[in-house]
Amino acid sequence: MTFRARHLLGIEHLAPLEITTVLDLADRYVDLNRRTVKQSDVLAGMTQINMFFENSTRTQASFELAGKRLGADVMNMAVGQSSVKKGETLIDTALTLNAMHPDLLVVRHPSSGAVNLLASKVNCAVLNAGDGRHEHPTQALLDALTIRRAKGRIQRLTIAICGDIAHSRVARSNLILLGKMENRIRLIGPPTLMPAGIGAFGVEVFDDMRKGLAGADVVMMLRLQKERMDGGFIPSEREYYHRFGLDAEKLSHAKPDAIVMHPGPMNRGVEIDGDLADDINRSVIQDQVEMGVAVRMACMDLLARNLRAERGRKIVGAMV
Ligand code: ASP
Repeated sequence: MTFRARHLLGIEHLAPLEITTVLDLADRYVDLNRRTVKQSDVLAGMTQINMFFENSTRTQASFELAGKRLGADVMNMAVGQSSVKKGETLIDTALTLNAMHPDLLVVRHPSSGAVNLLASKVNCAVLNAGDGRHEHPTQALLDALTIRRAKGRIQRLTIAICGDIAHSRVARSNLILLGKMENRIRLIGPPTLMPAGIGAFGVEVFDDMRKGLAGADVVMMLRLQKERMDGGFIPSEREYYHRFGLDAEKLSHAKPDAIVMHPGPMNRGVEIDGDLADDINRSVIQDQVEMGVAVRMACMDLLARNLRAERGRKIVGAMV
């Protein structure tokens, strides 16, 4: 198996072969998760701490389930009731937890780069569960697994990412992953929600949904990330839905078998029509949630193998 990383901080640091390794292992965890007895002992004896400094439903729940199904001791730190509220810095909190010898630290933080900084201060494996508008690597990996299972491949596809690209870490991680796997990427959204100079990154940019969706295999919708907006980026939600909200008519411009994705949480009637989101013939949104648990199991399994090997080398080193 090819997966050398010590931490999972972003897709940026992964080679295409490492991405494939995660997806192949995750496929096996999908099978395990569909059984009545879902237990494995891959992380038995290990401690996993989840630290979420920003709200989360799917990501936190799936990291917790993933750790438990692999046999780890899992602790969810209630950040709202912790010393963070008393003014403790992120690094002090991390060093305190590090002294309790966790093996895996899962961190979500509103500031871009905070998780990378934290990883440099601790001696366990760190998984980025989303940092600001920077990266959300497990989301991009679970999206890739969903696409690969629906389309039979994760290369040479036309993939449209639509909506608030500028504030989205999901868009950023997906752009990097899908680019590494040699797909044709289209970004669709109002110019106010498009990062400056994005056209230079080998992607096609559209502000017209119908033109951008023409011939797409995959349509990935994004939420308006209002928590990261400091001003008026759209005239109104009604107007936004009219121009950029995905409905059956706009989707009819994509390939007839195009799939619809959304990382959640969804705002029905803002970026996507509610009936389309629920249409099991087009929408793979629930599959994404299922793949999320399997992908997080695969990532923790691979990082734990590397951690054991590193610690083993240190023990041998100390003996000679
Ligand atoms: N859940 C995703 C994230 O944490 C997408 C979103 O919040 O819209 O980035």
